[in-house]
Amino acid sequence: MAGLDPEIWDDLRALGHRMLDDAFDRAMTMGEGPVWQPMPQESRDHFRQELPRNGQDAGALYEQFLTHIRPYANGNTHPGFMGWVQGAGTPIGMLAELLAASLNDNCGGRDHAAIEVERQVIAWAAEMVGLPRSASGCLVTGSSLANFIGVITASRAAGTSAIRHAGVGKSRLVGYAAQTAHGCVSRAFDLAGLGSDSLRLIPVDAAHRMDVASLKRRIHEDRAAGYHPFLIVGTAGSVDCGAIDPLDLLADLAREERCWFHVDGAFGAFACLSAQQAPLLTGIGRADSLALDFHKWGQVPYDAGCVLVRDPALHAAAFAQTLHYLTRADRGLAGNAPWPCDFGPDLSRGFRALKVWMTLAHYGTGRMGEMVASCCAVARYLADRVEAMPDYALMAPVTLNIVCFRPLALDEAALDSLVKDLHESGIAAPSTTRIDGVLAIRAAIVNHRTTRRTIDLMLEAIDGMTLRALGTA
Ligand SMILES: *Cc1c(COP(=O)(O)O)cnc(C)c1O
Repeated sequence: MAGLDPEIWDDLRALGHRMLDDAFDRAMTMGEGPVWQPMPQESRDHFRQELPRNGQDAGALYEQFLTHIRPYANGNTHPGFMGWVQGAGTPIGMLAELLAASLNDNCGGRDHAAIEVERQVIAWAAEMVGLPRSASGCLVTGSSLANFIGVITASRAAGTSAIRHAGVGKSRLVGYAAQTAHGCVSRAFDLAGLGSDSLRLIPVDAAHRMDVASLKRRIHEDRAAGYHPFLIVGTAGSVDCGAIDPLDLLADLAREERCWFHVDGAFGAFACLSAQQAPLLTGIGRADSLALDFHKWGQVPYDAGCVLVRDPALHAAAFAQTLHYLTRADRGLAGNAPWPCDFGPDLSRGFRALKVWMTLAHYGTGRMGEMVASCCAVARYLADRVEAMPDYALMAPVTLNIVCFRPLALDEAALDSLVKDLHESGIAAPSTTRIDGVLAIRAAIVNHRTTRRTIDLMLEAIDGMTLRALGTA
């Protein structure tokens, strides 16, 4: 047998239909069963086998999926999942993944429909956040890479495009972000060869927003010391508590100081879709570049990050190359420049755009905005309930959809173990963070399936566990 296609298709087709039915059954009963359960050793051991010499039947592999994989999923599709900042996916997204896989397009470039679909979603993303529709961009794994692309583009645009062949050398480029900025921003500086020390972390105010006066002072100090300030990173929705930096003021200062203004809007950018929350993000559309994740609040299945750059020429100047084996033609399959590979480090890339396009087109910005507002309302409900509980404290103001709180009577070790117990109970899965150095339970309501009822169940469980830990129940 030469190729890899089946000789007889009927069995595989029947199995495919069964898989799809099972996937729908699961989607329709997403809230049943535990949010998460630990994987038993037997199932872990199932994935410690040697490279198979001989193949197995697809049906047998599907049975292994049902036994060893599906029950031990990450849990983020379940209403009880509020940990970290993760999207819950949608049925339409699931179908889009299947369709994209059926085409198996390579979206590095060339002249085919997937490239036009990606351009469409990039234009939609730009419109959503208030950037011009002419902005360039591409879909990437996530905001970690999108922020990295932002840092690279900004550093090349800082009048130092020689960096591309000469390296960063003694460029003395320095950038700025709030202390509470996501760790991937400092890693982007590290990966870019600028060094993470070149990202100056600026203090935040009581509302966890970057302190603009401190930022301005630091820029002036750096300039006086011979550094080259090139980039201000504002966060729209901080990862620990959802705070939003004063984007408008940062945009003003960036212009004044001739710095690039990048916004990390990984999840928060989606607040632009809700009339209630959008005003909190005033200034976001003034960004020179922006990172956002369709796989978080956009509910598109993993993975689907996105980077946008206001000026396509500067974006391409940071990544495009001239290579004989990737010549752009005026017609034929090698046409249709510029290609996505001109806007990021990836050459071969999948058809992520289909699931983004189908999700946005299916729900429309109206329904997506309502979903965002309702996540914020569920977060508000949790915050109100916590504030009404005398033995609990809210640890940070609730700006969007993240609530940090703790039972006051527990020490850190007890709180840490309470969260693990909660995960293992299968009732709910929040995560933890530190707010001003103090350990807190962090519930991020990014999940469109989480309701007030889920919150009640979680609080009831936490309260019961707290009382048991104190030995009073
Ligand atoms: C999640 C997140 C990131 C990282 O994005 P990934 O998609 O996980 O790579 C960056 N910044 C913020 C604010 C985030 O919430």
